[in-house]
Amino acid sequence: MTSTSIEPAKPSFFRRGLVAFVRWFDTSANVETGEADPDAIDWLRVIPFIAMHLACLAVIWVGFSWFALWIALSLYAIRMFAITGFYHRYFSHKAFRTSRPMQFLFALVGAASVQRGPLWWAAHHRHHHRHADTEQDMHSPRHGFFRSHMGWFLTKRGFATNLANIPDLAKFPELRYLDRFDIVVPILLAIGLYVLGNILEAMAPQLHTNGLQLLIWGFFISTIVLFHATVTINSLAHRWGTRRYKTNDDSRNNAFLALITFGEGWHNNHHHFPGSASQGFKWWELDMTYLALKTLSLLGLVWDLKVVPPQLKRNSIEAS
Ligand SMILES: [Zn+2]
Ligand SMILES: [Zn+2]
Repeated sequence: MTSTSIEPAKPSFFRRGLVAFVRWFDTSANVETGEADPDAIDWLRVIPFIAMHLACLAVIWVGFSWFALWIALSLYAIRMFAITGFYHRYFSHKAFRTSRPMQFLFALVGAASVQRGPLWWAAHHRHHHRHADTEQDMHSPRHGFFRSHMGWFLTKRGFATNLANIPDLAKFPELRYLDRFDIVVPILLAIGLYVLGNILEAMAPQLHTNGLQLLIWGFFISTIVLFHATVTINSLAHRWGTRRYKTNDDSRNNAFLALITFGEGWHNNHHHFPGSASQGFKWWELDMTYLALKTLSLLGLVWDLKVVPPQLKRNSIEAS
């Protein structure tokens, strides 16, 4: 006797595992897995994310060297700038202009942060600004700290890239390929650090480093610290700090978060006028990303940096 049920069969654990594995390397692998709840955490797909945290514990075995720490800090700085200056202010907000090669170069550096490709990042971020702290905002702390900090992108809904939010970016084939195979860049970075460490162990033993030590410090620790610093802007910068402007959301200005994220902590300023390349609106609001962008503009590598109009800057809670 045959079954009359029209319910689709739930895919086997093996099949769901296979799909998750393919998606680790090809984010556009659009195969139905039968996941019922788009807001449930997709545990199989996020195994690498968990593994990257666990890999940091290997620091117990690889030890410390000043050189490894310097590499970790340098990679934190250059990748944080690529995220704040380019993924955020350029790709998401068009706060300045640049050439196509520079656009791709910093998309590559941003992808080395393991925060997905520029299209995914910008599509979700534009959605955040449109729906900040409403029911539709995927990473509002109103849904809880864990969900706002990282739970949101561990879900099936968070994994998808809505191309309708980014038609201006999706027209570049090189960005679409980078977005699809975003994991290639961090894998190359990790291999490069391991090889460099091994060469230095043989050629410059006075640095007291080696392949595994550079891999753990330069890739795993630096990337995980960079990740958690970046996402404090979703979780903490909508909770802790002061509000200068009456925006339609919970965004705050927080000097500590601005320091570790190179200027992104002036988040209430940013929600007040998202199109500005500068997020520190007062002279004392340090915004290192803006200083770096100004330097690039002096070199002619970026141009048309937008700033907040004076009348909008004055339109604060203190002034009202
Ligand atoms: Zn926000
Ligand atoms: Zn923004």
